[in-house]
Amino acid sequence: MHPGAHSGVELPAPTRAAALARIAAIDPDRYARTRNHLHGAVSGLSPYLTHGLVSLPEVLAGVRARHAIGDQHKFVFELGWRAYFRHVWSHRADGIFTSLHPGPLPDEAYACALPPDLAAGRTGVPAIDRAVHALLTTGTLHNHARMWLASYTVHLRKVHWRTGADWMVAHLLDGDLASNHLSWQWVAGTASHKPYLFNADNVARFAPADWHSPGSVLDAGYEAMERRARTRATFDGLDGHDGRDGHDPRCCDRNAERVEEPALYEAPPAWLAAVPPDPADVRGCDAWLVHPWALGDVPSDLPAGTRVLGVCVSEFHRAWPWSARRWSFVGARMAALAPVRWAGTVDAIATALATARSVQTLDDPHLSPWLRQWARVRAAPALFPEVDRRCDSFSKWWSIVRGPA
Ligand SMILES: Cc1cc2nc3c(=O)[nH]c(=O)nc-3n(C[C@H](O)[C@H](O)[C@H](O)COP(=O)(O)OP(=O)(O)OC[C@H]3O[C@@H](n4cnc5c(N)ncnc54)[C@H](O)[C@@H]3O)c2cc1C
Repeated sequence: MHPGAHSGVELPAPTRAAALARIAAIDPDRYARTRNHLHGAVSGLSPYLTHGLVSLPEVLAGVRARHAIGDQHKFVFELGWRAYFRHVWSHRADGIFTSLHPGPLPDEAYACALPPDLAAGRTGVPAIDRAVHALLTTGTLHNHARMWLASYTVHLRKVHWRTGADWMVAHLLDGDLASNHLSWQWVAGTASHKPYLFNADNVARFAPADWHSPGSVLDAGYEAMERRARTRATFDGLDGHDGRDGHDPRCCDRNAERVEEPALYEAPPAWLAAVPPDPADVRGCDAWLVHPWALGDVPSDLPAGTRVLGVCVSEFHRAWPWSARRWSFVGARMAALAPVRWAGTVDAIATALATARSVQTLDDPHLSPWLRQWARVRAAPALFPEVDRRCDSFSKWWSIVRGPA
């Protein structure tokens, strides 16, 4: 099937031109005023940043070519969050996949499966159902809606943050294990000093009318929300409305349309024509590896005749399968860059690459341990200096990389 033809939903185009057009369209002052609103002037750059079509330095340089913004501007600050999560990942490694510290309740107080009404976008709470629909039908979701969905899932439905994070990252076009899993931990209160809580007033302020959720489980004060986050009881959706804490079941949208969770795939789609790793493709040659997190332009300083090779690593995708939409985005760009694409195990890729004269690629923590075995790895362009000492808060990290806010 042709990339982008899966759902009838228009996907962000998987091209550098589309990313550069988004950079050119950024209005940093409007961004700062409106970014928390669902229809605010956000950049939509995250799928391009996640997959390396553009880098953070390139984004900021593009904005600064048109607007004079200082180092403490809101837009730079938000770019900082992406880099900060990478900083935490580099220090904690797989530790980011378990609670960094205790949250409001012990880990075992939370369920390991999503309730079916939540997974199908039929909780009866409009803000939550709209968010689930957007996630599952487009692979994109505004930051504020991600926070609402995560907070509702963990603090009201008492689902473990890890379950929610694994579900969300599989469907996002921009799924990044550091930004996603650490944001879920931040919302859960296992990576921050308090849980992130919200209510119907907050939704009414930042979302369009069809998201408003008066009379739902969200229609409560912050003290009630805090109490609920700290009790083991669940505050459920369509099936469980019982008027606790003043919640009026009659106001809920009980007819929300069910959304099917898209299938997840461990291997690239057939149209990408990826083949098993074959030494004949690289024997005696210089090679540049294109991988799903390094989809920028091929460097111009490679030796003449360098073979450009796409690689998809089976072990990674077995652990983290993707939606067809995500594969389309990545696969279309990979096909545009690399005439030959391999899909195979770490060992098969290593064996085939061992016959090459030289192999180079760009680093990314999703694949780092393997890339370093196979290739001379170039560091991805960084906007902020590396901080050797682990910072457990964003503000600490920020004051080192940019000075006090
Ligand atoms: C529960 C949850 C899960 C998330 N999962 C991911 C994820 O898998 N991948 C991902 O890239 N972001 C994730 N984020 C962060 C944020 O929601 C997205 O980066 C943002 O919505 C992308 O939209 P945008 O490109 O229009 O961002 P803009 O607001 O235009 O910001 C520009 C860029 O800055 C970075 N950025 C902005 N805000 C944040 C933030 N809060 N945290 C980290 N980086 C940020 C992103 O790279 C973004 O593309 C998550 C947030 C939450 C609350």
